[in-house]
Amino acid sequence: MSSLPTQAGGVPVLVLREGSNRSRGRDAQHNNITAAKVVAESVRSALGPKGMDKMLVDNFGDVTVTSDGRTILDEMDVQHPAAKMLVEVAKTQDNEAGDGTTSAVVIAGDLLGRAEELIDKNIHPTIIIDGYKIASEKALETLDKIAMPVDLKSKDYLKKAAVTSMASKLVAEYKEYLADLVVKAMLSVADKQEDGTFRADVDDVKVEKKTGESLGDTTLVKGIVLDKEIVHSGMPKRVEKAKIALLDASLENEKPEFDAKINIENPAQIAAFLKQEEAMLKDMVEKVIATGANVIICQKGIDDMAQHFLARKGIIAIRRAKKSDMEKLARATGGKIASSIDEISSADLGFAALIEERRIGDDKMTFIEGCKNPKAVTILIRGGTERLNNEAERSIHDALCVTRDLVQEPRVVAGGSAPELEMSNALKKYAETLPGREQLAVRVFAEALESIAVTLSENAGLDPIDILSELRSRHEKGETWAGIEVLSGKVQDMTKAGVFEPVAVKKQIIKSAYEAASLILKIDDVIASGKSKAPPMPPGGGMPGGMGGMGGMGGYPGAGEY
Ligand code: ADP
Ligand code: MG
Repeated sequence: MSSLPTQAGGVPVLVLREGSNRSRGRDAQHNNITAAKVVAESVRSALGPKGMDKMLVDNFGDVTVTSDGRTILDEMDVQHPAAKMLVEVAKTQDNEAGDGTTSAVVIAGDLLGRAEELIDKNIHPTIIIDGYKIASEKALETLDKIAMPVDLKSKDYLKKAAVTSMASKLVAEYKEYLADLVVKAMLSVADKQEDGTFRADVDDVKVEKKTGESLGDTTLVKGIVLDKEIVHSGMPKRVEKAKIALLDASLENEKPEFDAKINIENPAQIAAFLKQEEAMLKDMVEKVIATGANVIICQKGIDDMAQHFLARKGIIAIRRAKKSDMEKLARATGGKIASSIDEISSADLGFAALIEERRIGDDKMTFIEGCKNPKAVTILIRGGTERLNNEAERSIHDALCVTRDLVQEPRVVAGGSAPELEMSNALKKYAETLPGREQLAVRVFAEALESIAVTLSENAGLDPIDILSELRSRHEKGETWAGIEVLSGKVQDMTKAGVFEPVAVKKQIIKSAYEAASLILKIDDVIASGKSKAPPMPPGGGMPGGMGGMGGMGGYPGAGEY
């Protein structure tokens, strides 16, 4: 199968490079589907509040503990091209909605598994894709029908949705407390549009983390927190009415890029040289001070001598601030980032009521509060360990996204697989109105939506068959919001359980799952160039102990051999 030989007058013609790999038709479909199913299987057990966490170890031995679908897939470093497509879909889901990645991948995996059965029954993939398309459209319609509008004036639903998104994470113990912070943060950065709707950007909320006592000490700071200390101990630790110069230029003498030699013949020349250097630094510092600034935040370095000059003038300076922080600071303080010292003028300065360096845990951080633009906020995470903080950051990101989704489109559905069951039910009824083969595909789509109920129950140690049949019959009787509440283990009205999610997340799950499934089903020929050899091992040879499992996933050779 390697080099695609074709006969021409008895002579084989080689079209592909020696060593190329080709699989086509059923083989290719089977391989791709299996690979995608393996990926879906690997995130399945993380779904829902009773889902398990994953521990992922990368090439360098760094450990991540998470139940976030996208993070699991990212860290897995998947190699198989079809499996990679599923990973891409998880990314899209994350970028568009910010939550629901696990669900999207689970449904996509199920759609593919069921499509495979149809293919084995000689139903052409094109028919299946068409069926899935109408099914996904119908499912979206159903979601639109059942979604409940919410009033943003009461923050109730915003908070409930934020709590739901964090219920399935390591930080669940603090979900109520963190949800409060998240909702406050998001509402303070939301912009009201002329037509009365809101726009909000998750990036406007800065998230910083520092190990501390517990997640319960996480705070919402009205302003910007920089993980930086003031450069010189002689500078003040606190300045009120701060006038801030934002510099994207260094306060250092430029070093020559090539090896320059200076010939010095006597001590006087050394002194003159040093003096000249000092004068140049002083000149730079004075140019900045002339603008009236009493705080300098610099994206690049600040020379020791310049620090000394600034300290003597009682000016606060911070160096090597991150570019993203500089942009946030510019927005928050109303300042302009100057890219050269000669360029800066007093009109470019930003303003804040207070700048102060505070000790946080073992470190010092700088707080910029009372900014000109009151929309600037920071969530400062204070979990006990770094790993917990990283997972808290991801969970807070999800919760921020969910809140943003709701602020922009204030409609919710209840969770616990209630909406999936409702869509499934509608699709089954709809399928009966369709002719033969398409009917099959739509029915299969309906069944795939039930995989959320099955997975949530399985992860909670409940019997999925019992639960599914109860759910089906209660939806049949018109109980739109009947779902599985996994904490109590009972089928119940999920609106009473207070489990709410933005309809935008659910819609995106359907779109992402359909897209992934149809992309993979459309492929009937995989030609892999034989050029690339196995990727080189990381330096140090191999991974630290215990990595066999994930490594195996990474070097996934071909689904057929799995
Ligand atoms: P995703 O990455 O898809 O968001 P999660 O692990 O966050 O995956 O799980 C989300 C699912 O868990 C949703 O379907 C949501 O309705 C469900 N869920 C959340 N809380 C509960 C609960 N108390 N009972 C049942 N299901 C819940
Ligand atoms: Mg979630």
